[in-house]
Amino acid sequence: MLTTIAILVWTKAIWPQRFLWPQVSGEAVFCVQTADPVMALTFDDGPHPTYTPAILDTLEEYAAQATFFAIGRHLQQHPQVAQRVVAQGHELANHTFSHPDLNRRLGPGIEQEIQRTEDLLTPMIDSLPSYFRPPYGHANLIVMQTLKAMGRPIFLWDIDLLDWSSLSVDQMMTMLAEQAHPGAIVLMHDSSPNSDGSPRTSRQKTVELVRQILATYTAQGYRFVTLSDLLARGAAQPSVTRCR
Ligand SMILES: [Zn+2]
Repeated sequence: MLTTIAILVWTKAIWPQRFLWPQVSGEAVFCVQTADPVMALTFDDGPHPTYTPAILDTLEEYAAQATFFAIGRHLQQHPQVAQRVVAQGHELANHTFSHPDLNRRLGPGIEQEIQRTEDLLTPMIDSLPSYFRPPYGHANLIVMQTLKAMGRPIFLWDIDLLDWSSLSVDQMMTMLAEQAHPGAIVLMHDSSPNSDGSPRTSRQKTVELVRQILATYTAQGYRFVTLSDLLARGAAQPSVTRCR
């Protein structure tokens, strides 16, 4: 219980400070302003040989689309899973090659992390746009300037379900119910940066969470779309506060 309270306080009070530079720059996307009953589910850190296919099965069952921010190292290990993501019409996007904290890198190191994954993604995604999300949502002034020079806006989120934490699926569903709105970008994880098989890296809860989200919100009339589809429906919002 104490752990849960600590996680929630930390998330509400401290976590948003990470977004200082992306919000000041005005060049990141947190959600989209639209009246259409749509949300964009996004999955970071995959592809994973077990969890990603399980999530893909559920998405297919509900005719839902999503965006997967892949780690280049995992793309190299599981290219067939990535190919299935694309074949099912989902978007495959860039989440660096080795999942570093980019705030600890300088321009050339940041560019290299992005470009290595871009080189892996390009033959897979054909002509689709490749979006970028920095690990941990960390993007200081140097990261933002480097991305601007590369012509790459960054895609963050306005609803974080903390699916990597000790929260239960019920608690995560309650968090979503408090925050869900048309145009939301929802963060979840289909893998862990270090998939060493330890319990901490399990994403079995996420697999169950996705099933409950799709069952609950599809029944309420929501549809789940890719980031491209979401962006086509309204103005991208450059700060979290504009999403609430
Ligand atoms: Zn990540």
